[in-house]
Amino acid sequence: MEKKIIGALLFVFLVFGSSGCTRPLSSPTAQTQLTTISSSNEISQDELSNNLSRPSSVQEAQAVPILYYHSVMQENENELRMPPEQFEAQMAYLQDKGYQSVSLEQLYQALYKGGTLPAKPFVITFDDGYADNYTTAFPILTKHGFTATIFMVTSYINGKGFMSSKQLKELVANGWEIEGHTTNHPYLTKIDSPTLLSELNSSKEQLEKELGQPVNFFAYPYGDLNANVVQALKESGYRMALTTERGWADVKADAWHVRRVYCYASMGMDEFSRRMQNPNY
Ligand SMILES: [Zn+2]
Repeated sequence: MEKKIIGALLFVFLVFGSSGCTRPLSSPTAQTQLTTISSSNEISQDELSNNLSRPSSVQEAQAVPILYYHSVMQENENELRMPPEQFEAQMAYLQDKGYQSVSLEQLYQALYKGGTLPAKPFVITFDDGYADNYTTAFPILTKHGFTATIFMVTSYINGKGFMSSKQLKELVANGWEIEGHTTNHPYLTKIDSPTLLSELNSSKEQLEKELGQPVNFFAYPYGDLNANVVQALKESGYRMALTTERGWADVKADAWHVRRVYCYASMGMDEFSRRMQNPNY
């Protein structure tokens, strides 16, 4: 009985719902990626057994939320600093719901190279490299079995309020990723080409040398980008870049415009859980 209803709904959806789909999955490559990634997401057995042609609701399952934070610290009226108790509550919520954190490397492989992900994947990122990422967020994440990615501004390393080289090495040893966020945190569309390339290259090289692992991923400072910046990233050897645009990372978007889920101090648990449930919140 239940199967029949779901089947009928699926039929209605396929017939009437697909006309609004602006990006049909027609190429063999897209279909292959869909199969690989969707098998690890929330799809009922009914949907799998009715897998003649997938409805667009299943396409959304190819999306993965990438949370982004800056600092985890109590400071009133500063939305970039997430109070530690609230951060703890968010992580407890995710663990309780069965989410598993994945690295950007895993995500990149899954979105663009046919790799697989756990059933309820998400990514945690921190921008700039605040010291509290190590002193406060690291123990909380370890307690809940999660790892994260830091987008480190290299000129901030060892600076007041930011992480030291030693702390970054310890995070790497614990499965965290340290990725590119420039040397000086400029607006990348407002600097000349040589400076742009230097900002991307020197920071990448410094992190790779100090931490002994490749730096393949990047987050745009202030979310500021254009075609020149993307071109410079490609020339510098990066493989994927994250924006500050709202929404989940999505297989349909290219690797240079990956969206993230902004987490801010006053959001509250209702808004947090809403953003974890809707790829286009
Ligand atoms: Zn930043």
